[in-house]
Amino acid sequence: MLLEAEWVLPISSAPIRDGAVWIDGAGIMDVGPADDLRQEHPAEEAKSFPGCVILPGLVNAHSHLEYSAFRDFARQSGFAEWMLRLLLARRRLAAEDYGVSALWGARECVRGGVTYIGDAAFEGWTTIRAANAAGLRARVYLEAFGIDDAKLPQTMDRLEARLEVLRKECGPLVELGLSPHAPYTVSARLYREVARFARRQDMRVATHVAESQAEVDFLGAGAGPLANAYRAAKMWRGERWAPPGIRPVEYLESAHALGPELLAVHCVQVSEADIALLGERGVAVAHCPRSNLRLDCGVAPVAEFLAAGLKVGLGTDSAASNDSLDMFAEMRAALTLSRARAAEPAAAPGVLAAAAPPLTAGQALRLATLDGARALGVDRMVGSLEPGKAADLIVVRLPRGHALARELAPAAPSAFACGDPSGLTPAADPVETLVTRASTSDVKLVLVAGRVVFDAAARTREADERIDRDFGAVRVKLGLSD
Ligand SMILES: [Zn+2]
Repeated sequence: MLLEAEWVLPISSAPIRDGAVWIDGAGIMDVGPADDLRQEHPAEEAKSFPGCVILPGLVNAHSHLEYSAFRDFARQSGFAEWMLRLLLARRRLAAEDYGVSALWGARECVRGGVTYIGDAAFEGWTTIRAANAAGLRARVYLEAFGIDDAKLPQTMDRLEARLEVLRKECGPLVELGLSPHAPYTVSARLYREVARFARRQDMRVATHVAESQAEVDFLGAGAGPLANAYRAAKMWRGERWAPPGIRPVEYLESAHALGPELLAVHCVQVSEADIALLGERGVAVAHCPRSNLRLDCGVAPVAEFLAAGLKVGLGTDSAASNDSLDMFAEMRAALTLSRARAAEPAAAPGVLAAAAPPLTAGQALRLATLDGARALGVDRMVGSLEPGKAADLIVVRLPRGHALARELAPAAPSAFACGDPSGLTPAADPVETLVTRASTSDVKLVLVAGRVVFDAAARTREADERIDRDFGAVRVKLGLSD
């Protein structure tokens, strides 16, 4: 089948005006000008999307679908209070409720043009089943917690046993990873054990790290709001785990946890030396700007990551710390915050000064597509429109105003690549238009492995209503809805 649109954005090469993508079964066969592909394949069925752009499905490098029902949760809290309240609120739900929550989240992803997620999950089966039901591609990182080394052997045994069970649930679109949660909930020994196990099993690992100043203070001196919150909840009294007196990234290094299999989520509180170390070890980063902003954590130096050659993806994190799983909003936030950071005259003491030019719209789009796929190590399969890759692609309406701009603009040169500001005038630039103005309501069609998983023109209302009803009941349990 040929899918044709006003623009095709392969990401790995220049945008194609009046382009087409030829897909056969689950894969992409060819990408090019619509006229050429039509001529070469006259018998192929063609679907045309005027006023739209075809691009690779979006990659959400970090999510927690299980927490989709937690939207509006603890809105006014700083990081430490939010974390504590989340750990306590978790107990109000049964495992099945997390399944409902994940299913709703998977549906939100697909409707928003996301075709791949790197998801950290407490239960695991929740996101696996949700992804399978929604037709979403996923890596589900099973979470591990444990600051108390006395329980370490049981923690590892349980983890391995759960992986064995979950492996049977994974369909062709889902694979498993491991996620030791964060330096303030995972001991150095547990980090080391998980890293060793993952390398042996050839599995990928994700961990939250250097998210907040509270984390830095807790690791550095067992002090600050996180330490206070833990003490208040009697979750840590300082007997079994002593603060190592080093920075979060150094803590992971001391545990031999830094390696090319690792996705380091957040990395807001990092020094120049931390960035250099992450680069040296081949660690990728998941940038979650809206979550960081919501929890008063600051702005990660994403332009500096890119300048240092790090692999960087973009993630929404969970709905417990974000307003939505909308990757268009996330791209816009990344762009805006990067510009704001670069414009700051001087950094506050202890905060890394801006040392690289801010993100461009093209770079923001790459973070949400090909760069995200590289960060997760799946770029040979997804992330760009190229022959041989999976037919994971989306059709998005270009917001109004683009057609007018096109009429007014001079004939656009074709030599424009994402991230390269030369070429098209900004008004006629489909990348700039998409990143700065498109929203999830502009998503028309979503394909994963060549299969339609969302078609805005053909919604199945009954199924939607049932999921919404179950989801509403879970939110009532959380006190977030009546
Ligand atoms: Zn997270």
